[in-house]
Amino acid sequence: MKSGWIERDAETIATQAAKAGVSRDFALLIYTTRLLGRDPKLVLHGGGNTSLKETMRDHFGEETEVLRIKATGADMASIEVAGMSAVRLASLRKLRTLGEIDDDELVGVERASLIEPMAANPSVEVMLHAFLPHKFVDHTHATAVLSVIDQPDGEKKCAEAFAGRMAFVPYVMPGFGLAKKAIDVFERTKPNDGLILGKHGIVTFGASAREAYERMIEMVTLAENFIQARRKSVAVAYTARKHAELVEVAPVIRGACSEKDKKTEGAWRRLILEFRATDVVLNFLARGDLARVSQLGVITPDHTIRTKNWPLLLPAAEAGKLADFSRASHEAAGQFIARYHRYFEEHNKRVGHIKHEVDSLPRVVLVPGLGLFGLGRSKRDATIAADITEAWIEGVSNAEAIGRFEPISEADMFDCEYWPLEQAKLGARKEPPLTGQIAVVTGAAGAIGAATAKAFAVAGAEVALLDVNFAAASETARAVGPSALPVVCDVTNAASVRAAFDAVAAAFGGVDVVVSNAGAAWQGRIGEVDEDTMRKSFELNFYGHQRVAQAAVKIMLAQGIGGCLLFNVSKQAVNPGPNFGPYGIPKAAELALMRQYAVDYGADGIRANAVNADRIRSGLLTSEMIASRSKARGLSEKDYMSGNLLGREVTAEDVAQAFVHHALALKTTADVTTVDGGNIAAAMR
Ligand SMILES: [Zn+2]
Repeated sequence: MKSGWIERDAETIATQAAKAGVSRDFALLIYTTRLLGRDPKLVLHGGGNTSLKETMRDHFGEETEVLRIKATGADMASIEVAGMSAVRLASLRKLRTLGEIDDDELVGVERASLIEPMAANPSVEVMLHAFLPHKFVDHTHATAVLSVIDQPDGEKKCAEAFAGRMAFVPYVMPGFGLAKKAIDVFERTKPNDGLILGKHGIVTFGASAREAYERMIEMVTLAENFIQARRKSVAVAYTARKHAELVEVAPVIRGACSEKDKKTEGAWRRLILEFRATDVVLNFLARGDLARVSQLGVITPDHTIRTKNWPLLLPAAEAGKLADFSRASHEAAGQFIARYHRYFEEHNKRVGHIKHEVDSLPRVVLVPGLGLFGLGRSKRDATIAADITEAWIEGVSNAEAIGRFEPISEADMFDCEYWPLEQAKLGARKEPPLTGQIAVVTGAAGAIGAATAKAFAVAGAEVALLDVNFAAASETARAVGPSALPVVCDVTNAASVRAAFDAVAAAFGGVDVVVSNAGAAWQGRIGEVDEDTMRKSFELNFYGHQRVAQAAVKIMLAQGIGGCLLFNVSKQAVNPGPNFGPYGIPKAAELALMRQYAVDYGADGIRANAVNADRIRSGLLTSEMIASRSKARGLSEKDYMSGNLLGREVTAEDVAQAFVHHALALKTTADVTTVDGGNIAAAMR
């Protein structure tokens, strides 16, 4: 591992910080924290932490010794001054005299000792940093180090790998107990460079930010060299067969890893998928001993809140045998859930039934020959699970290559997984109602499409924005959010629609809601309009919806957890306007299409509904059209746009909310919701 320290960069940060009144030491700590945080072999997603001891003036102008420490869950790669909390050192050090302290009390003392009362809670490892006397302390869960120490003889291997330069602290659950144990070991052995925390990670320290950082790099390099020198090869059992495609397999896995809501009939707890298939992943999945090594546990305790202790291991998915794979996946997922319940029950009993079980669904799925899936309630969580699993694969593979992988016990793992301070890293957020769902919007770059994509994202769904104009879809997606997926899709082309839905299944794992919205208007007096115009309109305004709905239903059936098809039918479907036949007639057929889907797929839990909107500013009703039509009727533009029973202009956002409502209305199918401010001629009976 190479040092990332660049003198010029360090100087730039220190100079900039000085202008903002930040000390040079603190600025360089920010710099090394980012260097550590940006290397996934050292630190992943909120793991790891760094600190500095210095004096500062408090609110009374008094010089105070403080510990500046990373806030809990903060990401080291992008840390800013605000991501490091300043805590009075004297009060933290006093805690060392206590035998034990309750977590709540400890957090209370920490908070009471913050210089800024609104600062974020310090890292759960704050006491470890406070007790060590060094000015700078860095702590990571470096993968190579974990491979060396997650062993039955981890202490011996550690002595060899680090040539006696690191003191060894046997495993203790992170927190106050570990901090006390670590300082005891330090004072007894006085190591120069740092500490190894058994089955957990590594701590280095130094008199400067650079010294602590460079020691981390040096020690991790020693671990890498140790592994390299001792690596033995692994027997591969898996023989290549023809595998099913990712886009066929993902929805099956997604369905198997969903859970029926116990309270609301028709509701499911769903997860989003993130797929990985590097050579390292595929080689790991080809191991002859995969069934054993995959079920031993995580490489460091704080990963367990992201990945659970074990992945769900599925059989290979052979091409042409998807039904077999589906059956096997459901069976294996059922066994996983039962195992998780047993694990929870057993250890919750041990601690006196004080814990509440988190959902028992897998967060990692392994499919030999295909790759791994990270699962989460959002794309972000799924990505974190996948990143951690890639590190886990590397850590376990190397541990087995130099000995035998042995993580902490299941009981210790449970204590970490259900430690309130670990759970707090996930944040106590209330989930929006469509969390875990995947919504596809067609015509997503248009006014109604864009508003709908935004509304679904706000409601918690992951959103794919399909549009014939990819550049416009991409721009809208950027406005919707970091995980919004723009996909080029021409709904008049069957291959384009298939490719678009494949892209959605590959990116998120499946689909739950489709808002079939793409459309365009043609005009002509019906007795005289040429057939070509009618066919063009039918191609887009009827067959376009049919292709999209068919592609969605195929995925929904593979998932087996229901779904929701939503159509933008427009008022023309029920209230034809003069010379609007070429548009209104395929829209009327679209309304019939919606009802047919409701009839044919109701038993599969797939609902079909429509929104009947009118007079929305959009690509179909441009500003020029509004100007000319209002003028033709002798009305102001405002009166024209709000010429309805309520006298209110209807917006794209109003239509978007109607779609969201339908996605949530689990007992409603074959329904049309009118969003037109009131037009009795277009009212549904
Ligand atoms: Zn740690």
